[in-house]
Amino acid sequence: MRKHVVVIGGGVAGLEVAGQLSKVGIDVSLIEKDSNTGGHLNNWHRLFPDRRKSSEVKKYLDGITKNNDIKLLTDTTIEEFKRTNNHFSITTNRGKELTADAVIVATGFDLFKSARKEEYGYGIYNNVITSADLEKMFSNDKIVLANGNVPEIIGLVHCVGSRDEKAGNFYCSKLCCVTAVKQAIELREYLPGSKVFCFYMDMRMGGAFYEELYREAQEKWGVSFIRGKVSEASETIENKLLIKVEDTLAGRPLKMKLDMLVLMAGMEMSDGGKKIAEIGKLKTGENRFFAANDNHFGSNVSNVKGVFYAGTCTAPMNITETISHARAAVVEVIDYLKVGEN
Ligand code: SF4
Repeated sequence: MRKHVVVIGGGVAGLEVAGQLSKVGIDVSLIEKDSNTGGHLNNWHRLFPDRRKSSEVKKYLDGITKNNDIKLLTDTTIEEFKRTNNHFSITTNRGKELTADAVIVATGFDLFKSARKEEYGYGIYNNVITSADLEKMFSNDKIVLANGNVPEIIGLVHCVGSRDEKAGNFYCSKLCCVTAVKQAIELREYLPGSKVFCFYMDMRMGGAFYEELYREAQEKWGVSFIRGKVSEASETIENKLLIKVEDTLAGRPLKMKLDMLVLMAGMEMSDGGKKIAEIGKLKTGENRFFAANDNHFGSNVSNVKGVFYAGTCTAPMNITETISHARAAVVEVIDYLKVGEN
């Protein structure tokens, strides 16, 4: 008898899981809340560390739903999900009833809502933007200020909503340092006359070729890295942004005028994930991401038998790690369903 797995979330992890399950002969229903699959990748122009176009990865992911027999349900959310006699009964917002042998949760992450850090003025001052807004500008091939002028002095603020007691997020989002370095290089490349400053607490460049990128940013592109926390931003009468920074290396406070401020928003458990946690009685950790059964050898396994996790719904991960985690989830599901044994 063919097995049926419901995958919740059509981002990188969900698509990879769906494709791999389909290849081994498992029926898959892939549930996506938006009208398109691809998740955050749709909003990113280029990827670190090699500044490859995200459309190349998107093409690979689009091929998964095109080339495999996957039942894709877009604009769909889960309203109810219960386990009875080794089966899951799932009800969607469109009134569809599904029965599954296993469920994979791949609800991904949400970017921290930068307006919560009022002191940086996102949503108040036009030229305070987020890393995601900047990606959109790169995609549109237009880096300009609200008045149409080209920015000359640009600041990037690290750790927005991460490692932040006030925001309730003690953890490090792991990828915003390298994103800042990538975007700083791209800004210098795009606007050769600009000056770009990164304000960081610690540089966490713990991935393959991240450190090299950091070095390139300084040596080739002249990006300035200032160790210090931006405490606030305000707007001057001539529409510049005035920021106050505690330069912790020089040990003195600093005031700077900028044209544009880019907030490196961290990663949080998605709202969709929170809803699934509640209706599925799935455990979450202190950081509010899904809690794995065992951090070392069970990072795909949930507290509910037959429910597995894939990707950034469990912790911040880059795309490479997300795909590996998704493939590991597939191995767990195959083992659970004993596919190939009967
Ligand atoms: S990766 Fe860097 S910017 Fe992001 S939370 Fe960690 S230290 Fe802060």
